[in-house]
Amino acid sequence: MEFVVASHNPKKLREMEAILGALGISFAPLPEGAPEPEENGLSFEENARIKARAACGFTGKPAIADDSGLCVDALDGAPGIYSARYCEGTDEDRNAFLLRQMEGVPDGRRQARFVSAIAAAFPNGDELTVRGECPGEILRGAQGAGGFGYDPLFWDAAHGCTFAQLPAEVKDRISHRARALQKMKQALGEYYAEQ
Ligand code: IMP
Repeated sequence: MEFVVASHNPKKLREMEAILGALGISFAPLPEGAPEPEENGLSFEENARIKARAACGFTGKPAIADDSGLCVDALDGAPGIYSARYCEGTDEDRNAFLLRQMEGVPDGRRQARFVSAIAAAFPNGDELTVRGECPGEILRGAQGAGGFGYDPLFWDAAHGCTFAQLPAEVKDRISHRARALQKMKQALGEYYAEQ
């Protein structure tokens, strides 16, 4: 069984292979010329399904896609599905923007979570969707140089550091994406057992 991964990011393909390969599934990248669907869903799950459906429709093969972001409680879940485009510029610009939005938020009210939704779409119209989350807190300044995106601001109390200070292999094991992939492994195992 081969799945198309609806992403041009080779790291995501490898991550999926590492966790879902155990089910006997192999993964192929999105072929050249595949359309980029508009991510106009109102949730991570909807956007993941939009991407998986588009890749499945284009290739005629089962497809898998993810959508992720940061949700801050004190900002009513922002930046959420708009995490990648919270403001113009670089990751550093978006981190600075987030800190400005949170200037008046006191310690103890800075809870947030990283969220990852993963969807699988099959040529017969079946779909599976799962969600993984990682809880944390938003610091008042960046710490650490690893990771990407909002990692330098995201304090992980369980490890006593930010996601940007975690060794990459630890983040890859405990991340919201890893948690969602473990759930997708379970969901796909059950789906194929029912076939
Ligand atoms: P994507 O769905 O992987 O493209 O991620 C969307 C956006 O969410 C990214 O551009 C980041 O701003 C943010 N994001 C998602 N996952 C992470 C993470 O593991 N660390 C930091 N930022 C993340």
